[in-house]
Amino acid sequence: MTALRTRTRNTGPTAAVRALVFARDEHRCVRCGTGNTLTIQHRTNRAMGGSSDPAINQPTNLLTACQACNMWFEANPAASYAAGWKVRRPTDPAHVPVRYPTGELRTLETDGTSRTLGVPVVITGRRAALAAAGR
Ligand SMILES: [Zn+2]
Repeated sequence: MTALRTRTRNTGPTAAVRALVFARDEHRCVRCGTGNTLTIQHRTNRAMGGSSDPAINQPTNLLTACQACNMWFEANPAASYAAGWKVRRPTDPAHVPVRYPTGELRTLETDGTSRTLGVPVVITGRRAALAAAGR
């Protein structure tokens, strides 16, 4: 683990925090559920002077995402904000639930755990089909 820590870029989370986030998300991408090519997704953007903010690398601001979905979040901001995969500054990410592949909503805690809010009630059949398709 010591070797990993020295390799971590100083703008990113520590190896310990990364491990915590991967474990919390069960080593699966929060959007598509894959266990392959996993990366750390920052919910608030690091641009706008965010890299010096210690909160940027807290577990509440970090998600497990595959490389493809990490790029998808950037290309689809409206859907990403709606699902809690991205969070607008200055909103505290701890206050915004995240949608997981099962449809379950969870809030993220600063200690690296998460709390389930359950699966939201589906309003119409069409919405249910869209949710099942992950859209
Ligand atoms: Zn994915």
